[in-house]
Amino acid sequence: MRDSRLSATRGACALILCAAVAAPSAASAQSSGGGSVYVATPKVAKVTCLRKCASKHRARGGSVLKVLGKELAAVNRLTYMGSYGSADDVTVKVRAGSDSRVQGRVPLGAVTGPIALTTAAGSRSAPSKPVLILPPLAPEPNPDLSPVPGPRPNGAPSIETGTSRTKAFVDARPGVKFSYRLSGASATALKVELVSAADGSVVRTWTPGDVPENTVESISWNGRLGKASARPGRYSFRLTAASADGSVARSSQSGDVQRDAFDLYDNIFPIRGPHDFGNSGARFGTGRAGHSHQGQDTFARCGTRMVAARGGRVKFKQYHAAAGNYIVIDGDGTDVDYVYMHLDQPSPFSEGDRVYTGQTIGAVGDTGNAQGCHLHFELWGAPGWYDGGKPFDPLPSLRAWDSWS
Ligand SMILES: [Zn+2]
Repeated sequence: MRDSRLSATRGACALILCAAVAAPSAASAQSSGGGSVYVATPKVAKVTCLRKCASKHRARGGSVLKVLGKELAAVNRLTYMGSYGSADDVTVKVRAGSDSRVQGRVPLGAVTGPIALTTAAGSRSAPSKPVLILPPLAPEPNPDLSPVPGPRPNGAPSIETGTSRTKAFVDARPGVKFSYRLSGASATALKVELVSAADGSVVRTWTPGDVPENTVESISWNGRLGKASARPGRYSFRLTAASADGSVARSSQSGDVQRDAFDLYDNIFPIRGPHDFGNSGARFGTGRAGHSHQGQDTFARCGTRMVAARGGRVKFKQYHAAAGNYIVIDGDGTDVDYVYMHLDQPSPFSEGDRVYTGQTIGAVGDTGNAQGCHLHFELWGAPGWYDGGKPFDPLPSLRAWDSWS
């Protein structure tokens, strides 16, 4: 879009890049200047997938990556940086094979984005080019109630469980629903645990007060842990039912993260139909008359359904000569504003409305200054859109969301 307000923030991309690249060299200058020990900053040159890969350039949870570079001997951590922000960063321990080579596994929960290597002394490489990480193979679906296999202790109830979906999004409605039914013996205490497959830790516990027999009960989860969003990755529900005589039945044993498992993602791709990211002119930062392009254009047939990539509060819903029908959503639990332009009709939502992840907010159009139907999509860091924040390149995030949506 074209807008005189937009030109005021030209060069924001350059600023963000500068910040990202400057940090590691500053750290190394400090350590070499402040003491007698010279701490080299690792440099990443090339990343390929070595084992258990989807292809040489496409990894997934469980793959092993090969990282080539320089000054790698002291590296002991590899961080998957995912899309914007640190909420989806995942770090694994690694050991350098030599000064020029490091191998590291891709944990469940790592998502497409740059990687960085960090030494024991805390010196960190600049981010690499994005590494494409496909979503893990989906867990076994168990949408309907099914009996828990295996023997159960005498006196313990029989358990049936089911989980509504194998893919869930933070702040979506409905959330992922875990259902259960007890029969055969009465239970006096119930516990439902949400287990992270990444490390087996219990991240949330429910203790339903009522323990009715032969009745289907359920709990729903929206990907939040208090006010914070849970880390993206694989989770599973585990039900424990104790009867009065102390015998205990479980829907899965500790260590089993297969049953009632699902993958949690932090954003959904906003266009729900075939689409493409256009040519170089569609990119963030390319020249426009009098300013630089502050978003990524994604082309799709006129009328293709558009959803909120992330839920939140509607900040603006307006018409503008260049942007056409547009809507700005303050991403819930994030520092980011999500901006959608050229909608074919005004969004049904109004300023102040609460929107949930994946909810329809409109359809792809070409209102305003647009050549061909497309979504012009922007991401702005805190404090927000034309409120002191700065736009950043949304394409890496869009690609990642697209890979799992
Ligand atoms: Zn555009």
